[in-house]
Amino acid sequence: MATSSAQANMEDVPSVDLMSELLRRFKCSDKPDKRLILVGPPGSGKGTQSPIIKDDYCLCHLATGDMLRAAVAAKTPLGVKAKEAMDKGELVSDDLVVGIIDEALKKPSCQKGFILDGFPRTVVQAQKLDEMLEKKGVKVDKVLNFAIDDAILEERITGRWIHPSSGRTYHTKFAPPKVPGSDDVTGEPLIQRKDDTAAVLKSRLEAFHKQTEPVIDYYSKKGIVANLHAEKAPKEVTTEVQKGLQ
Ligand code: AMP
Repeated sequence: MATSSAQANMEDVPSVDLMSELLRRFKCSDKPDKRLILVGPPGSGKGTQSPIIKDDYCLCHLATGDMLRAAVAAKTPLGVKAKEAMDKGELVSDDLVVGIIDEALKKPSCQKGFILDGFPRTVVQAQKLDEMLEKKGVKVDKVLNFAIDDAILEERITGRWIHPSSGRTYHTKFAPPKVPGSDDVTGEPLIQRKDDTAAVLKSRLEAFHKQTEPVIDYYSKKGIVANLHAEKAPKEVTTEVQKGLQ
């Protein structure tokens, strides 16, 4: 009998990984569907909370910034188009990001719902997302608003170090790695994002206030926004997230 390539690949997966994936799917089977949006300025903690929410609710985590950075690194046509705006801390065009999200939502891992992190960032994107979801007969359940004062963000952003392949983040002062410059799990080198500088942060914050804050108003009118105190310590924010999602 012919073996599909997916089956052939499965044979190479270690049993312990297969078992934990089975266990995960079993635990996920009775979780309700959830469609969530995380809105907040750079450094407000969306990326820190996302993996926790993802595991708790069995959702896929779609971060447009991560997807765009991967496209830039791979020099795909999309990456080439996005690079200039990203380097300057400006938003890339709505059409580009809406296309990415439309495609990504088809992934099997998004079956139980999703966490959109960094999307929608304009009211046009929010309207396009609503249209996309309407076609599927579903809607956004909750928008988590990571509210925080601009003054706190510079220190958070300029001290941030990232392990690119896992997305794990560290901070020189608030969450240092065990060995400076190395990922705790793999030992691989950490990097600093090119746009995590005080100068580029200024434009990113401008874009946030001008183009993204109206997105919060858009969803507030629908009565689905939960406001978080994002200046608090990560664990306390997690508690607020859990309350917001009840
Ligand atoms: P982030 O990792 O979310 O801080 O995003 C990094 C950069 O990617 C932003 O400064 C924008 O240039 C671009 N970007 C990410 N998501 C979007 C979006 N939804 N709309 C427009 N540009 C985006």
